[in-house]
Amino acid sequence: MTSCDVVVIGGGIAGVSAAARLAADGASVVLLEAEPTLAYHTTGRSAAQYLENYGNDTVRRLTLATRAFLEPFLGPRPLLQIGREARVDDLRARVEHAVELVPSTEFVDGDTARDIFPLLAPDIAGGLYEPDSQDIDVAGLHQEYVRWFRSAGGTILASARVGALTRSAGRWRIEAGEHGLDTDIVVNAAGAWGDHLALLAGAEPLGLHPLRRTIAIAAIPEHHDPTDVSRWPLTSFEPDEGPMVGYCKPEPGGLMVSPADETPSEPCDAKPEEIDVALGLHNLGEYTTLDVHHVRSTWAGLRTFTADRTPVSGFDPAVDGFYWLVGQGGYGIHTSDALARAAAANIGGSEWPTHLTDVGLAAADLAADRSTLAGPLVEGH
Ligand SMILES: Cc1cc2nc3c(=O)[nH]c(=O)nc-3n(C[C@H](O)[C@H](O)[C@H](O)COP(=O)(O)OP(=O)(O)OC[C@H]3O[C@@H](n4cnc5c(N)ncnc54)[C@H](O)[C@@H]3O)c2cc1C
Repeated sequence: MTSCDVVVIGGGIAGVSAAARLAADGASVVLLEAEPTLAYHTTGRSAAQYLENYGNDTVRRLTLATRAFLEPFLGPRPLLQIGREARVDDLRARVEHAVELVPSTEFVDGDTARDIFPLLAPDIAGGLYEPDSQDIDVAGLHQEYVRWFRSAGGTILASARVGALTRSAGRWRIEAGEHGLDTDIVVNAAGAWGDHLALLAGAEPLGLHPLRRTIAIAAIPEHHDPTDVSRWPLTSFEPDEGPMVGYCKPEPGGLMVSPADETPSEPCDAKPEEIDVALGLHNLGEYTTLDVHHVRSTWAGLRTFTADRTPVSGFDPAVDGFYWLVGQGGYGIHTSDALARAAAANIGGSEWPTHLTDVGLAAADLAADRSTLAGPLVEGH
């Protein structure tokens, strides 16, 4: 039986970032991952983009608070959200709101949008432009959290699926494959499996929504100059009304294309559906002059949301020593450091980080008992 202060369950970006910060603060920490390799599920399947105007204002504040940590893993990749005439008023209004937190955001008309991304369809009438958005080296970032965790004395056990969690005399006993552990605090960083883990621990599920999203890497026709291609922004397609219907961005091996699908799913090893790949390519053709048919590779991952589309980093209100670090949705990479700092402060009982107060975030914004967690999933993207 291994004994420690904290057991973190889940070896995605949420688990490793929190484990590293807790260990660096002096706790003895063991991280358990069900799969043989870390980052196998959602963390290894993202679009690897840093976006300051993505998500609600709490998410955007978490993103801003994470930027400094991410800096060594970022490279320029502006964001352009484009639409036709019917969408222009909405895009202008979005820019007006966006500049309050991200002053560099601007509205661009159709011609300026085509200067930035020359392959936009001729009737694109305007867009929201975020010049400071970035590519993220997600593998490098994840490895950095792992390196930091190990150097602070942390232990990682892979192929260690937690199957039982029992609490007695103020301690947790955990069974994970061949391992037995005994600890004060359990951190639930199990991504799409967050509610399953809560049931094992006797906690009330939060009602998490795992939603499948598909990505295809399409071949770019050879007549496009690779240097020009490498400068294309991440471009998202905004229909006349409703949430975005896709996006694309250049990748070393081609063009990343997604239909921005949100298909409800059970927690699982998500696989892409042909129909979603086809929809992604179709929508690319609707918003650009690119005519792409050949796909090099595809994948899908589960973006797991709470009902209010804001992550949770907080103790369960009813079950002692059970900490939720879930609901990172489509923003878990670029909010990782802020959520980990919140976890380390709450668990370690230390002062709320100035990193978070500086952007106007309080512990209550991320709490597991906030009222907005009840109810249906709010619309978003
Ligand atoms: C297509 C797509 C595009 C995205 N694009 C972006 C983007 O551009 N920028 C961004 O910031 N975010 C993006 N995201 C979201 C981001 O990838 C996620 O928010 C983030 O990876 C979630 O990390 P996690 O650690 O919570 O989950 P995961 O990476 O899924 O990790 C959870 C881990 O818990 C383990 N686990 C579950 N149950 C148990 C158990 N019982 N015992 C032990 N281990 C267990 C699982 O095996 C898994 O490894 C995207 C996601 C997708 C799918």
